[in-house]
Formats: sequence, structure tokens, C-alpha cells
Amino acid sequence: MPRAAIIGGGPAGLAAAERLCEVAEVHVFDAMPSLGRKFLLAGKSGLNITHGEAFETFLTRFGPARERLEHALRGFAPEAIRDWAAGLGIETFEGSSGRIFPRAMKASPLLRAWLARLAGKGVTFHPRHKWTGWTDTGTLRFETPAGEVTFEADAAVLALGGASWPRLGSDALWVPLLEARGIEIAPLRAANCGFDAAWSALMKERFAGAPVKSVTLSCDGESVKGDFVVTETGVEGSAVYALAAHLRDAIERSGEAVLRLDLAPDRSEERLARDLAIPRGKASLANHLRKKAGIDGVKAALLREGAAQDIFSDPAAIAHAIKHLEVRLLRPRPIAEAISSAGGIALSELDADFMLAKLPGIFAAGEMLDWEAPTGGYLLSACLATGRAAGDGAARFLTRS
Ligand SMILES: Cc1cc2nc3c(=O)[nH]c(=O)nc-3n(C[C@H](O)[C@H](O)[C@H](O)COP(=O)(O)OP(=O)(O)OC[C@H]3O[C@@H](n4cnc5c(N)ncnc54)[C@H](O)[C@@H]3O)c2cc1C
Repeated sequence: MPRAAIIGGGPAGLAAAERLCEVAEVHVFDAMPSLGRKFLLAGKSGLNITHGEAFETFLTRFGPARERLEHALRGFAPEAIRDWAAGLGIETFEGSSGRIFPRAMKASPLLRAWLARLAGKGVTFHPRHKWTGWTDTGTLRFETPAGEVTFEADAAVLALGGASWPRLGSDALWVPLLEARGIEIAPLRAANCGFDAAWSALMKERFAGAPVKSVTLSCDGESVKGDFVVTETGVEGSAVYALAAHLRDAIERSGEAVLRLDLAPDRSEERLARDLAIPRGKASLANHLRKKAGIDGVKAALLREGAAQDIFSDPAAIAHAIKHLEVRLLRPRPIAEAISSAGGIALSELDADFMLAKLPGIFAAGEMLDWEAPTGGYLLSACLATGRAAGDGAARFLTRS
């Protein structure tokens, strides 16, 4: 039987192992003492494993990478991911937003069952094996607590992850190893990340951690309705992540991004102006804003922070500011804090089987490839789907006559 190495025991690597073990002796190597640490962390927020929207819409979430990923995504589509989880004894459900989660809302039961099934199929796990490249004769090299170990494989799947949360294992130290072999790597950048803003001391002290609910956020013509959180340094949360790629690109282009907020998306500017024009008598401005426009707490603080101070005597100007508030974002939070990273192995380096054309027998999958997607289960979906496709590709490579 041929021997295959999977390097990286996250969802992409394990998905590859699952396919390859049908035709090869499979060894999974990981730098960490245990596997799937980022997958377990994703489970802390419920493990949004895929998305139930129409598949054509689902595909659009992968932007320019869609074309290259489509075949793999069709090969392990959201319904198939749900069936696969069910096969591991993990029932899933579709939340009101279409996001799909395991009923238990965590990753550990799924990971445990998955690792046990792989072990039952003969897959061997090698934790604490950090891949450091190849020997002169093309053998894989690993750093281990017992010193250097080498491993001769007939095929290998690299599934080393991106660059977010490096303390969970994905530290992107593979970048120079592959660049040295002539592989083009798009720079790794924060994706699904928070951003810094120049908040006043009052905003930081009083509102850090405050959720801003039911607002519309826009940047560069893209809009999303949802919630975000004011942090000590700026903003984060699901609605910000949904626009993060646009915001990040705008900052790279022009040094800052303008995040536009509609603090009252369910009321028109005209209605707000009319209601705010009702004389407030002895009521404070804060009370008037709360009663007539539903603006209080952190929303009122954002308005005070972002609007010119001379508008507050003019109801029409206040209404305009509520609907078109601008928050200047200075920079993305560091990649180490991001949910995921953009960039990675250029998709043009891969053949249809996810093999690196310049390195025959070496396949790659998961977040280390150059694609990005918003949160919503798309990240895990694509890691599982590309892992599976790379595993199938490696299996074909090993069994070709
Ligand atoms: C807080 C948080 C919440 C998230 N929530 C969700 C969610 O709900 N839904 C969703 O779709 N996505 C979510 N994600 C993203 C998702 O977890 C990742 O996209 C996914 O885990 C990437 O899978 P991967 O297999 O490509 O890489 P990883 O999961 O990063 O696995 C890579 C593996 O490679 C190993 N490795 C790296 N370098 C080496 C080396 N040199 N030698 C040996 N081993 C190495 C690492 O130790 C690691 O185990 C979340 C991420 C974070 C940080």
C-alpha cells in the first residue's frame, strides 16, 4: 500500500485523510500536542459548520475564488456536510439566519467521533511533529521533542491553515518553505477581523463591549444589516466581519476606511426629522433622541462621537446623521486576532486535483489557499470541501496506473 502524509490536523487535513485512507496508509502530522485546536475554538461560538441558503448564493460568498473552488464545493455541498456530520452521530440544525450548527453547539463531540473513525480506518496520528520542509532527497522533515524525524511519503497533502490565532498551531511558517520551492504565495492578511477607530476616552471607558444592535453598515456600496460591538480600540462582530474585506481593502488603498452606519434602518430620514422636530419642552436632548428616534446608549454615543457638534439644534441634520453616520477606521486588528486570513497559495499553482503543479505528489487544501469568505459557515465548508478534493486528488495520484 502506498504511504501518504497529511500535514496539518485541522478540518482540511482530516477531510483529506478520510478520503485517502481508502487507498493508502495515512499518517497525519501536526505541530501541536493535539489536533483540531482551531476547530475546537470555532466550537466555542457554536460551530457554524455550513450554510443552508440556495447553493448559487452560497457560491457567491467565495468572490473571485468561486470559479476555482466550485468543483470542490459542489463535491461536498452543505447538504452533504450535514449528512457527513450525521454519519458521525452529530445532528445539525438550521438557525433562523440559515446558518447550520450541530445541535450540541460545540465541536468536541464531532472531532472526537471523527478522530476515532479515522483511527478505526488505520490512520496514524503524529502530534508534536512540526513540518520544517524537505531533505535534499525530497523526504519530509519534522521537528519533534525527540529531535528531527524524516518521513518518506508517496504523496502528501499540506493543510497547514492560515495565519490567524497562531498559538493554536497555524503560524504560517510554511510560507518561506513553499516560496523557496518557487510557489507563489499571496500575502496573508487579516480577514473577518475587527478594526481600530480613534474613539474618544468617553467612548472607550463607557461603551467598550457594548453591542450595537439592528443597524445597517456600508462600505464601498456594500451593505449589511446586523449587529456589531464597540471595543476599546474600535469595532468588531458579525456585521463588521461581513464587510471586513471591503474595509481592509479600502484602508490598503487610501490609508483609512469610512464605515457608514444607519443607526435606525427601520425609520426613514423624513420620519426621523419630523419626529425630532416636535418641540421637546423641558426634556433633555438625550431623552428626546430616545423617545422620538429610538437612539440611546451606545447608539447615542456613536452619534455624539461621529456627528458635527453643531447639528444638535437642527432636527433635519440630526435625522441625516442618524441615517448616514460615518466612522473612520484606521487599520484592521492584527492577523493573530482575526477569525481567518486571506491570501495564501495562489490558486493558479494548483491543478484540478489540488496538486501543486510545480511539486508533483504534493497537494494543498484549506485556509492556506488564497481564498476568503465571510463568517456564516463558509470557512469550514470550503476547508472540508478542499480537503476532501485534495484527498481524492492524492488518491488518484497514488492509484494511477
Ligand atoms: C475564534 C474563531 C471562530 C471560528 N468560527 C468558525 C465558524 O463558526 N465557522 C466557520 O466556518 N469557521 C470558523 N472559524 C474558521 C475555521 O476554524 C478555520 O477556517 C478552519 O479551522 C481552517 O481549517 P484548516 O484545516 O485549513 O486549518 P487549521 O484549522 O488552522 O489547521 C491547521 C493545522 O495545521 C497545523 N500546522 C500548522 N503549521 C504546521 C507545521 N509546520 N507542521 C505541522 N503542523 C502544522 C496546526 O497545528 C493546525 O492543527 C473560526 C476561527 C476562529 C479563530
